[in-house]
Amino acid sequence: MERLTIAVGSYEVNCSILSKEGKAYIVDPGQEGERIIGLLAKKGLEPAAILLTHAHFDHITGIAALQKAFPELPVYVHSADRKMFGHPFNQMPSEYASIGTPANLREADDISLELPELKVLHTPGHTPGGICYYLSEDKLLLSGDTLFARSIGRTDFPGGSMPEMLASLKKLMELPRDTIVIPGHGMFTTIGDEQDGNPYVM
Ligand SMILES: [Zn+2]
Ligand SMILES: [Zn+2]
Repeated sequence: MERLTIAVGSYEVNCSILSKEGKAYIVDPGQEGERIIGLLAKKGLEPAAILLTHAHFDHITGIAALQKAFPELPVYVHSADRKMFGHPFNQMPSEYASIGTPANLREADDISLELPELKVLHTPGHTPGGICYYLSEDKLLLSGDTLFARSIGRTDFPGGSMPEMLASLKKLMELPRDTIVIPGHGMFTTIGDEQDGNPYVM
């Protein structure tokens, strides 16, 4: 698949647009739905779905503009994160409006019906329904807020768990070393670099 990644919103979420045969799959549309719509138009891509790594406010608020422009657009999310939509704990800074529960929610695992090459790895710890998207052919992992370059996501938010996080990281460290990792925030890395240099997995 083709991939394009932009940092969106004041928390600089890495939003990746995966595309194949003119269809775009938007991972974590952050706060800048309008900008993403413009980018899709420029590239001649038609949005096929929104994929969420988890439902924290900084990863999801762009859904509102995307679904306003494309009302049928489905949103794939793990069921364990559904209760976070519109939850008071999940709308901290005032510049992020609450979007409530989006329409057309689908279970994350079901994206494989449409994109068999995309594997959904359940990696709880940062949130109960945290997932990573793995494209083995492209050697690419979109790790959300589970794994960062030399760091990991926080486990002290509601629903977070350090034991679950450590088990999730162990699972990710079994992927091939040359897998490129695009985290939910910050610099890209590889599984090998994290095996060697991330204090939480060494
Ligand atoms: Zn998060
Ligand atoms: Zn985040």
